[in-house]
Amino acid sequence: MLQDKDRIFTNLYGYQSWHLDAARARGAWDNTKALLELGQDTIIDRIKASGLRGRGGAGFPTGMKWSFMPKNPTPERPSFLVINADESEPGSCKDREIIRHDPHLLIEGALVAGFAMRARAAYIYIRGEYIREAETLFAAVAEAYAAGLVGKNACGSGYDFDVFVHRGAGAYICGEETAMIESLEGKKGQPRLKPPFPAGAGLYGCPTTVNNVESIAVAPTILRRSPEWFASFGNENNKGTKLFQISGHVEKPCVVEESMSISFRELIEKHCGGIRGGWDNLLAVIPGGSSVPLVPAAQIMDCAMDFDGLKAVGSGLGTAAVIVMDKSTDIVRAISRLSYFYKHESCGQCTPCREGTGWMWRVMERLRTGDADISEIDTLQQVTKQVEGHTICALGDAAAWPIQGLIKHFRPEMERRINERRSGGLETMQEAAE
Ligand code: SF4
Repeated sequence: MLQDKDRIFTNLYGYQSWHLDAARARGAWDNTKALLELGQDTIIDRIKASGLRGRGGAGFPTGMKWSFMPKNPTPERPSFLVINADESEPGSCKDREIIRHDPHLLIEGALVAGFAMRARAAYIYIRGEYIREAETLFAAVAEAYAAGLVGKNACGSGYDFDVFVHRGAGAYICGEETAMIESLEGKKGQPRLKPPFPAGAGLYGCPTTVNNVESIAVAPTILRRSPEWFASFGNENNKGTKLFQISGHVEKPCVVEESMSISFRELIEKHCGGIRGGWDNLLAVIPGGSSVPLVPAAQIMDCAMDFDGLKAVGSGLGTAAVIVMDKSTDIVRAISRLSYFYKHESCGQCTPCREGTGWMWRVMERLRTGDADISEIDTLQQVTKQVEGHTICALGDAAAWPIQGLIKHFRPEMERRINERRSGGLETMQEAAE
């Protein structure tokens, strides 16, 4: 288990103030100028050496991403850092804890990361529904400006760096990096075709890197404590500490910083007081936020909670939003609800997603009540395959994967409902579903 001395987020629960003085007492903004004096290339090399992989879901190596930015930006074509605080994935709730309780970690991280990639400014795009969090962030940025930590000659380093906070309007798709850039530009939040990638042509057509809040907020601590320290946690290729967000049928749902690669059982036992009703009552887990396939109880119990461990059981770490479902869960209904979410959030640009998400949801609803034919399960599976990988952005995949996970692991339950309805058990079924 991660020891307190190794936690990066020491005010995750808001027991102390988020203001600048308290953040400084906890170690934030401690001689940031010296970090910048390391120089851009050294900072990027150290982040690479730490093994940090993006914490927003894709898990792309953070240092490598920074290194794609141009070495000689011009005043006419500056570089930008965009920080993704749109956190809208069902189950995800970690970035809000950073923003409302330790925003200075993020702002300092923005400066350090922005400097490393030679960016002129950072734009923090915060989810529209995070109203109180946005208020805190605006106030924290104002504190940082007033103290000379950002803005002209940030931290006395001679480097000019601005931080802007931009509030979204509540669309899940704006969490996709190119949709976020469109939205920042004042347009409809719809993903762009790639290439060009944002590092070539991003915000206002300029080189841009989009990073998750957690990836940016951990950077200064990694530089202060050394990449080796960060890399001492977790398995090979899955290094560091990570915020896990555990919700659902555990005794004590929580957000907690833990070592990567901790086993699911240890995570739940140590921090959540166990599964509601005991381990025998566990049905399935969605380990990485709603867009990854579920994993049945037997496969997840001793699984390492990291990118590779969860990939090996057919799922993914995603944002580490762990949704625990016990045997009281109507699993078909739960996945159908997720299908509704993706149908609702599709931006409508591409046909497989626009039409497919609605089609999949309607079939899922009939499967929920058993009002379907057994052959439709295979048809549904085929349609998920026609959506997956055939769209502009990953929302199509995100809509397909939970259904694929359901069919793979709970097909007998889907067939049972259909057979039960046919044999006249409909009322009981509907009552159970409602
Ligand atoms: Fe929009 Fe869906 Fe296409 Fe993404 S996959 S661009 S959300 S229609």
